[in-house]
Amino acid sequence: MCTVRESEPKTCSVCRAAQYCSQTCQKGAWKPYTDSDGVQQKGHKTECHMFKRAKEEAPAMYAIFRQFPWSCMKLKGHFNYEMFLATGNLLGDDPNLGYWQDTSKPYGKRLLAETHLSEEDGWKLPLDEIPTLTFRHRKPPARCPPSSQMQDWKSYHEWRGLPMTSPVALRLHFPLTIYHLLHLFGMTPDAHAIKRRRSMAIYCLDANNEVDFLPIFGELALLLPDTDIEMVVMCETFPATFAEAEPSALVSKPYCYEYEAPAECGGSTIRIKLVKDRGNRIYAWNRASTVTN
Ligand SMILES: [Zn+2]
Ligand SMILES: [Zn+2]
Repeated sequence: MCTVRESEPKTCSVCRAAQYCSQTCQKGAWKPYTDSDGVQQKGHKTECHMFKRAKEEAPAMYAIFRQFPWSCMKLKGHFNYEMFLATGNLLGDDPNLGYWQDTSKPYGKRLLAETHLSEEDGWKLPLDEIPTLTFRHRKPPARCPPSSQMQDWKSYHEWRGLPMTSPVALRLHFPLTIYHLLHLFGMTPDAHAIKRRRSMAIYCLDANNEVDFLPIFGELALLLPDTDIEMVVMCETFPATFAEAEPSALVSKPYCYEYEAPAECGGSTIRIKLVKDRGNRIYAWNRASTVTN
């Protein structure tokens, strides 16, 4: 605990985000240092530019949030994720919270189970707010959204028939960011473009907690018609998580998740493969490109 009170509180003049109790502390925190708990800190120098960018991008982020009715849940003027989850009884590390569970490292513990969660047990939402991939109770969406029209969450929700009250964007940003990248590369076909069936490999090189809700990546098969997708996932904590995996565990299968979209949606498939050890990880890094067609 710092007790220095020699001057007015200081704000970093570059990022305008970091605040210090004094100029002495500000100087001391710029370069790598050891804090009062004896923990080695990287220093503000390594993060200042990220804070600066985050502040600059904040207005655009808020504009995205404002599309959703649930974004009005604010604390100190900002959308508060934890408070939002808490009001829906979805906050915490209880495995029964499904995809909303606050999983901690090592990631991937859900893949030690024998089966994935059902959509209902994963999303924990009313049926009409779930972006369901199995169409027992609902009609599938139109064969892929025209990529030119998939510019924002609103158009995604419309295409998917999901009300804007559904909070799934808070998880679906993982697959939809991949979709957006493919769009930037010109690899998202329009609905009526006649294409040969194609295969695509997607490498996720440094996955984090998204490995605990991999079934949501089935969304990519729905979004990209006539495509056979192989997604290869690497995560630093896999060796630790999977050291004692049972042969019947999801992680022990050649593909830990597989999904085939309905024929009327383009019949695309996605298979997810995990890179479980460090040797493979380096091998994969060498041959990996983010997306290959
Ligand atoms: Zn201080
Ligand atoms: Zn700064």
